[in-house]
Amino acid sequence: MATSSSTQLEILLGEEDDLLLGAESGWVEARTSCDHLSSLSSDPLHIPTPHTPCNRCHHPSENWLCLCCKDVLCSRFVNKHMLQHFQQSNHSVALSYSSDLSVWCFVCEAYLDAQVIPQLRSVHEIAYILKFGQAPPVRTVEFPKVEDNQADDTSGS
Ligand SMILES: [Zn+2]
Ligand SMILES: [Zn+2]
Ligand SMILES: [Zn+2]
Repeated sequence: MATSSSTQLEILLGEEDDLLLGAESGWVEARTSCDHLSSLSSDPLHIPTPHTPCNRCHHPSENWLCLCCKDVLCSRFVNKHMLQHFQQSNHSVALSYSSDLSVWCFVCEAYLDAQVIPQLRSVHEIAYILKFGQAPPVRTVEFPKVEDNQADDTSGS
């Protein structure tokens, strides 16, 4: 009965795929654009390390890095210092030093895809190297197909 069991496996895997992509998993797709990037720091290459404590309450880890002024502040699950910083300074884009290094925009109220948005790419890469000691894996990005112009050979005769 090898054939029927492998068919069952395929069906099971297919269902799992649907669940992973569905809203039930809590996964929200990160935005690939954001209108609030004009106040980003112009020097993303020098940022505090992932182990920098919160500037206000000294919470030791999993803090947020303000990508405008590079302040390190704790999350909404600790003392909400990053959120307060946004409310006071209007610095809206922050990078999380927790495991996934996601970038959040407080105005969009959404995660931003740091590997797609050019202004975020280098700071995300530096943060990744600081945290993991290596460059982030190259992600396959689908580019629009460009037609190959093969009949471009002018040599001959
Ligand atoms: Zn935004
Ligand atoms: Zn704090
Ligand atoms: Zn700031």
